[in-house]
Amino acid sequence: MKSTVKREESSVVGAGPWMYRFVEELYLICRSITGEGVRETLRRIDSHVPIEVHEVPTGTQAFDWTVPKEWNIRDAYIKNLAGERVVDFRKSNLHVLNYCIPFRGRVPLKTLREHLFTLPDKPEWIPYRTSYYEENWGLCASQRQADALRDSEYEVCIDADLKDGNLTYGECLVKGSTDEEVLLSCHICHPSLCNDNLSGIALATWLARYLTERNTRYSYRFLFLPGTIGAIVWLSRNENIVPKIRHGLVIACVGDAGKPTYKKSRRGDAEIDRAVLHVLRTRGSDFSVREFSPFGYDERQYCSPGFDLPVGSLTRTPHGAYPEYHTSADDLHLVRPDSLADSLSIYLELIEILEGNAIYTSLCPKCEPQLGKRGLYRALGGLADAGEGEMALLWVLNLSDGRYSLLDIGDRAGLNFRTVRYAADLLLEHNLLAKVRAGG
Ligand code: ZN
Repeated sequence: MKSTVKREESSVVGAGPWMYRFVEELYLICRSITGEGVRETLRRIDSHVPIEVHEVPTGTQAFDWTVPKEWNIRDAYIKNLAGERVVDFRKSNLHVLNYCIPFRGRVPLKTLREHLFTLPDKPEWIPYRTSYYEENWGLCASQRQADALRDSEYEVCIDADLKDGNLTYGECLVKGSTDEEVLLSCHICHPSLCNDNLSGIALATWLARYLTERNTRYSYRFLFLPGTIGAIVWLSRNENIVPKIRHGLVIACVGDAGKPTYKKSRRGDAEIDRAVLHVLRTRGSDFSVREFSPFGYDERQYCSPGFDLPVGSLTRTPHGAYPEYHTSADDLHLVRPDSLADSLSIYLELIEILEGNAIYTSLCPKCEPQLGKRGLYRALGGLADAGEGEMALLWVLNLSDGRYSLLDIGDRAGLNFRTVRYAADLLLEHNLLAKVRAGG
């Protein structure tokens, strides 16, 4: 369906290149679930929008989990007998098994192969592997690099620390006129991976900065967390905030060229679910929808039964569904400024719905009010399609009985939310509607 009101995109001009540059800036930092890479990433985010950084000590209990040790890495390599680095962390931080224990020694090729991870089907790509919850040392390489190993033994160095320290996460609360909150969460624990991780960080940072300059009804809480353990720690420390959360989204994988994908919240029919689907349907381009499953990103934690928050996940090609996922090919070529900008435009349109949705009651419910004598048909001159505007007036008047929200009306009438909102504003101006409550 076409939009009758021109989309306001002037404010997002330049957002795509801006987010792409931020992805580039963060790309080379070696992140993990804990450590300096996360702190450095949070410092870079903080240079654009003020965030509060929290440090949670190793050993802290968070529900059934415990904050793990802090991991920091300086260097890692495999040297051949000639002393040449044949696998070199300085060339890609994916070459080290992320969060692995330190190791130094000469090892026979056979032993080395047991600690070397490759992707035989994608011989040029380096896999991204982690060993968060079992202690191991290891390196990752392309299959081509692994096949070239011919010496009898190699020198292996993983110059890392895995010791008591802190888990670090960042939080940015953009206050609105109410303390009802929209939660926007992204993970910040992946090293040089662009779509899975950095695209979400860049979009969230841009959005947080944008919202600080606007007056909103909702307060927007942005979380920049290490995946899984970060969300669990945040929930365990903020149970008092949870009841304020009205809507939420997990932001990830928003920079590839694939179509937008929405994964519904556990509830499946929350206002956030209906609002995202409304945006996707009325944009007129291809998209896909997935039902909730307890697998994926941090929606698993927000939608655990003890919280059951209305949190979905709005991505492009989702978690695990693109070949470059968790490999060195999830790089600066996979993410594109125009895809980032397109994803952002969906988030902005969604926020417009959350902010503008409300329930009204008609003040002239017995038969139709006479619109002509109030000049309401002429007032529709502001719309590109006055016929659609007239339908919107009639639908809003008919369904505003204190039960249906403007979003419900848009869905039922097959009209874009912005058109319905515009109609409701005209009717309010003419004292034909009274507000029952904000929201859906
Ligand atoms: Zn991932």
